[in-house]
Amino acid sequence: MLAGAGEPAYRADQARRWFWQQLAPAGETVKYLFKLRDSRTIETVVMHYPGTSNSRSRTTICVSSQVGCPIGCSFCATGQSGFDRNLSEAEIVDQFLAVSRDLAERERSLTNVVFMGMGEPMNNYAAVVGAIRRWADSRTLNFSPRRVTISTIGLVPYVERLSEEGLPVNLAISLHAPDDDLRSSMIPVNRKYPIAAIIAAAKAHSERTGRRTSYEYVLLEGVNDSLEQARRLARLVNHRLSHVNLIPMNRIEGSPLAPPSKARSQAFQAILQEAGISTTIRATRGLDIDAACGQLRARELQSSLSRA
Ligand code: SAH
Ligand code: SF4
Repeated sequence: MLAGAGEPAYRADQARRWFWQQLAPAGETVKYLFKLRDSRTIETVVMHYPGTSNSRSRTTICVSSQVGCPIGCSFCATGQSGFDRNLSEAEIVDQFLAVSRDLAERERSLTNVVFMGMGEPMNNYAAVVGAIRRWADSRTLNFSPRRVTISTIGLVPYVERLSEEGLPVNLAISLHAPDDDLRSSMIPVNRKYPIAAIIAAAKAHSERTGRRTSYEYVLLEGVNDSLEQARRLARLVNHRLSHVNLIPMNRIEGSPLAPPSKARSQAFQAILQEAGISTTIRATRGLDIDAACGQLRARELQSSLSRA
């Protein structure tokens, strides 16, 4: 419930809702497209995972930190469409507030936040950390940073700064390749911050805060999905509190990159598991968080405009 939670210094309707659409049949995934005051648009996704006999139900919001993204990863639709500007702290905070209001009508509330929408959160460090502190403020929402995950391409100085602050957020490191040559060809900023430095920073954060580091690995057929690459990956991420999340690529328009077969993804996973690395494959394409985040924006914008 937000009522009575005390309004922050700025108005919560700053990022007013412009358009939203139910993506999943049972209303389990909802995407919001927010129009900002300067008419730029960002997207925010909410996913509800029903509880099971051994887990409680979760409602996760996937927030954006920038309009577009300056990093330009080869496999990412957001990266391919360029960079407009950073979001302000208020615009990040407001994604949470606006969605919470909507959920409250259905007697639901957010349990988790992931920075996996548009943008590179560590490239907008002050606003992102400011927003996390706002949500955590006991006078407002009292939402624990332990329930927040920052997904980053690995801007090392900012990952280090985060752990120096001791902010107990979870890290998701977008690794995607087990060697620097390949990673630099997919993610140009790897030339500046190579794999070993990123993993050292992530590991230090986990050691300092006790929070988990998950390594995100988008599987691209014939690029990073060989069994030898799985073995290399296993050696790299073999530290306490580490987890690997394999994500068969969601195709993007105009790109020849493609996901591997299911059998190949499973063989890749098996190698990591045999090496003792906890590993999951993100299975449900199209409705899962990665499909829903960042990648559908252009198409949604077009269809909502043509409907208007
Ligand atoms: N900039 C941050 C956070 C946003 S991207 C980062 O890169 O970590 C959120 C996640 O979506 C990342 O793990 C990213 O690698 C993944 N992603 C991007 N493009 C994808 C695609 N085409 N298919 C599947 N996942 C993708
Ligand atoms: Fe930016 Fe992340 Fe997409 Fe790379 S994967 S372009 S860092 S949003």
